[in-house]
Amino acid sequence: MANLGNPKNTIEIIQKYEFMFQKKFGQNFLIDTHVLEKIIKAAGITKEDCVLEIGPGIGTMTQYLAESAGRVVAVEIDRNLIPILGETLAEYDNVTVINEDILMVDIRALADEYNGGRPIKVVANLPYYITTPIIMGLFESNVPIDNITVMVQKEVADRMKEGPGSKDYGALSLAVQYYAEPEIVANVPPNCFIPRPNVGSAVIRLTRHKTMPVEVKDPELMFRLIRASFNQRRKTLQNGLNNSPELSFTKEQIAGAIERLGLPAAVRGEALSLAQFAALSDILGEG
Ligand code: SAM
Repeated sequence: MANLGNPKNTIEIIQKYEFMFQKKFGQNFLIDTHVLEKIIKAAGITKEDCVLEIGPGIGTMTQYLAESAGRVVAVEIDRNLIPILGETLAEYDNVTVINEDILMVDIRALADEYNGGRPIKVVANLPYYITTPIIMGLFESNVPIDNITVMVQKEVADRMKEGPGSKDYGALSLAVQYYAEPEIVANVPPNCFIPRPNVGSAVIRLTRHKTMPVEVKDPELMFRLIRASFNQRRKTLQNGLNNSPELSFTKEQIAGAIERLGLPAAVRGEALSLAQFAALSDILGEG
């Protein structure tokens, strides 16, 4: 099968099947062999690896993955793409295509079935409308993962890697950095896709921490505190936590905890590091 990273081959297959792009599924197919090679290299894929690909589209990246990995499991929601994948991946016997919504799939069970519960790698040119639920779902459901190498909106990639003091720092930065080490691998302009997206894109690799960067007694409480702080970004931490319907601490408990951390009473949530949110959570969790 011809390399679909070449735009001519992509256009040919789309015309052959009279494929109609569906905006609601975030369909922007990659047509740049350099970017495809970079993604495979950044993910560090070897024949020992089992790779989960989210949204294979017409199979452009799947072909590269099939060449370099031991096994590829590709989950695609759009049933109109399934016959196309049947043709474009016909020569590979190490690829399984599953026609499902990734948000409904038990990925832990997939890792068990296809990789005996050993850590998998996740590679995707993500549908941008569900980037956050996909990434958070992968981390929070304790799927055994080595790394996640994904194409996302440039602005979202920036948010994932920022720390306190940046305007892009927020709940997503803290959640990603709690679980993984983020690194931007490539910036990708709109002309590398058919059709062209309205935004710039970036490939980011999230390497799962072997040991967590902070110890926190109740991570779920820490994430409720983080969400409350950034929901009302321009308020003080004290007010943000006070006003949150997700929390029920008294004003005095919150003020006391902020003081015990050695922070000014009027500090904003966006000034706190992950370690400080963990400490705040442990203090408030003491009751
Ligand atoms: N991997 C292909 C490529 O790089 O050319 C296509 C990437 S395109 C940005 C995103 C793909 O994800 C599309 O094929 C789309 O149909 C699929 N998709 C969208 N929502 C999905 C979902 N909930 N579950 C699985 N696949 C989904």
